[in-house]
Amino acid sequence: SDQRLAGKVAIVTGCSSGIGQGIAVRLAKDGADIVVNYHSDQAGGEATKAQIEALGRKAVVIGADVSKLPEIQPLIDAAWSNFGRADILVNNAGVEKGANFWEANEADYDLVLQVNLKGPYFTTQAFVKKLIETKMPGRVINISSVHEEMVFPHFASYCASKGGLMMLMRDLAVELGPFGITVNNIAPGAIATPINKSLLNDRSKLDPLLRNIPLGRMGTVDDVSAVAAFLASDEASYVTGSTYVVDGGLMRNYKEQ
Ligand code: NAD
Repeated sequence: SDQRLAGKVAIVTGCSSGIGQGIAVRLAKDGADIVVNYHSDQAGGEATKAQIEALGRKAVVIGADVSKLPEIQPLIDAAWSNFGRADILVNNAGVEKGANFWEANEADYDLVLQVNLKGPYFTTQAFVKKLIETKMPGRVINISSVHEEMVFPHFASYCASKGGLMMLMRDLAVELGPFGITVNNIAPGAIATPINKSLLNDRSKLDPLLRNIPLGRMGTVDDVSAVAAFLASDEASYVTGSTYVVDGGLMRNYKEQ
């Protein structure tokens, strides 16, 4: 087959919308069967499944909150029970909560850190345990953000979570390399998805941002999915411990606001 992910199985968290949905469909286009995870939007999960099936691939839809350990294990197990294997884990689920730092509350902090950092930590742990047990190699791809490195005033918890995800990726690349498991991050810049709909609807915020993006446009879900498909493929077999920035040059051109 000319499909570079033929015979592979991918688990994609939070793929009822946005970047996760785009990645799930793109990996299916390249030949993979998909475990579709959603949190609250089951209809969105079913829509992702329908797109995958329209490509001739298989999908199973699993509701799970990736910040809750008892819900993670069944999500990972679904790959083995439905497809007999899993090769790729995409930790995509993420949330952001903006506030002045001096006004931010504990509940928002906990939500952001638990979904964006604890989620990938324990989802990866459950995935890797199965790989080590079955002596299989694997790929872990985290969707972090340019804010794993770049400041985002009024989003301190988000920056802390994505900065943590950067060091988690680097650490696991070293610890899991001997098992043939690679770990990499994709750091999207400004991508047009539901997470930033308030920005997209506010020209007074959007215009200055676009002026800071050297390529002069917002990114698309497809821009991010193409890099995920590469990192999941055999062509990336020697890539581990890296962040792939997909931001139209934003990070290199950052000016303090
Ligand atoms: P989105 O809001 O469409 O996607 C986030 C997804 O995470 C949703 O499907 C949501 O249901 C899911 N989710 C939230 N909490 C969850 C939980 N507890 N368990 C399971 N799933 C949960 O927005 P998006 O832009 O597609 O975001 C996807 C990822 O990309 C996030 O990690 C986000 O931080 C990152 N990101 C986005 C941008 C951007 O500009 N859109 C930029 C950088 C990074």
